[in-house]
Amino acid sequence: MPDRNVIIIGSGPAGLTAALYTARANLKPLVIEGLEAGGQLMLTTLVENWPGYRDGIMGPELMAEMRAQAERFGAEIVRGHVSAVDLMARPHTVTTSEGTFSARSLVIATGASARLLGLASERVLIGHGVSTCATCDGYFFRGKPIAVVGGGDSAMEEAVFLTRFASHVTVVHRRDTLRASKIMQDKAFANQKISFEWNADVEEIKDTGKGEVTSVVLRNNVSRERKELPVEGVFVAIGHTPNTALFHGQLEMDANGYIVTQSGSRTSIPGVFACGDVQDHVYRQAVTAAGSGCMAAIDAEKYLEGLPQHLGEATLESRAIG
Ligand code: NAP
Repeated sequence: MPDRNVIIIGSGPAGLTAALYTARANLKPLVIEGLEAGGQLMLTTLVENWPGYRDGIMGPELMAEMRAQAERFGAEIVRGHVSAVDLMARPHTVTTSEGTFSARSLVIATGASARLLGLASERVLIGHGVSTCATCDGYFFRGKPIAVVGGGDSAMEEAVFLTRFASHVTVVHRRDTLRASKIMQDKAFANQKISFEWNADVEEIKDTGKGEVTSVVLRNNVSRERKELPVEGVFVAIGHTPNTALFHGQLEMDANGYIVTQSGSRTSIPGVFACGDVQDHVYRQAVTAAGSGCMAAIDAEKYLEGLPQHLGEATLESRAIG
């Protein structure tokens, strides 16, 4: 199989925007969609902050549009999960469940996944009362008491949002102070429908036998006391993990495993670019992911233009890295 100009790993807003721009630059990109095709927006309902849709657009519909738009300009999108990459090799190689591909440049847009508590009961009840996405699932909890686990901005945002539906929201946090920003804390503290369980670890989510959430068992990590809190839903909002396992040891990452980018989307390896949530733990918005996908495409295009195409590999290597 001939080398590609650019392979894009991931098919969320960042990956598909990079695909659109590289396709329009006539680079004939190959997109490997990954396990969660379409990314996190596939798990949402109405997206109200995507510019241009005054009444909002459903997440899956937005992703279908982005995909069709990229394909219209010649992006090739294939199913498959990437199992290995060799970023040192020139061209870079990408091994997937569907075969091995090689490319002179790579755009990494593998996103981030919601973190879970790691409880057996959580695994059983996810999608049956346990959720990581208030926007997607809040509506199902109208008039019901629920718990939100976490003490960061996401947890506060979800807790406040969920008061639109739930009869009561209990925030369960493992410490006695929140990590969330002051403004988010103030919003949560001011909301009459929100109360807090401090220094509380979730030991178990009941009732796996019934296949639905009926309560959470909390253990106070200071007093060691246990208590059972009756709730019908649990929203786990304890942060996200960037999907970077594939690149460990090959790319520079920060302490939390996010890919470090500089001057736009450049990673520590020339010709390898990163965009979207895999390199952004601050903004994490569809629109910022799409914007960074555009930057990665332009950066890849410039990189490819500068490559001495007709020179040998050794020359290419020293020029690219130097
Ligand atoms: P985060 O800031 O990393 O907070 C994660 C929270 O979950 C922390 O309170 C942490 O507790 C808790 N936690 C982590 N692992 C846990 C575990 N195993 N069991 C129990 N609790 C656990 O993550 P985030 O809230 O998703 O925010 C990520 C970034 O996005 C932040 O920079 C945030 O400011 C930003 N963000 C901003 C907004 C906004 O401004 N509207 C909204 C959402 C997110 P500890 O505090 O004890 O570590």
